[in-house]
Amino acid sequence: MSAHPDPGFTTGQTILLGLRCRCPRCGVGGLFYKYLKVADACPSCHLGLQGHDSGDGAVVPAILLLGSLVVGLALVVELTFAPPLWLHMVIWAPVIIVLTCLILPPLKGLGIALQYKFRSTEEPPTPGGS
Ligand SMILES: [Zn+2]
Repeated sequence: MSAHPDPGFTTGQTILLGLRCRCPRCGVGGLFYKYLKVADACPSCHLGLQGHDSGDGAVVPAILLLGSLVVGLALVVELTFAPPLWLHMVIWAPVIIVLTCLILPPLKGLGIALQYKFRSTEEPPTPGGS
């Protein structure tokens, strides 16, 4: 039994709300008050968000996604143009930094939304998350 009212959103809608960094209960309020700082509560519906903080949970998918993307692009550039190594550093270091800054909030929002949808913060934490 859920400890919070059913938001009425489907799982797909909850995923989209998380990716847009919106409150998973009302879909209006923002999840963050700074770049990646989770707000204490939704500014719209006052849902407490502290217990839904996904912490560093967004980092692993970000590494996997961006690592695959950037390594693939670097291979294409290397095989097509064969630029010197220093040029790879000049190109890919800023690309990695910018893409990381862009992708982390949606991934963290997704983690928060899914935690809200599938796990009650009223339940004591258990190993394995079940
Ligand atoms: Zn809300």
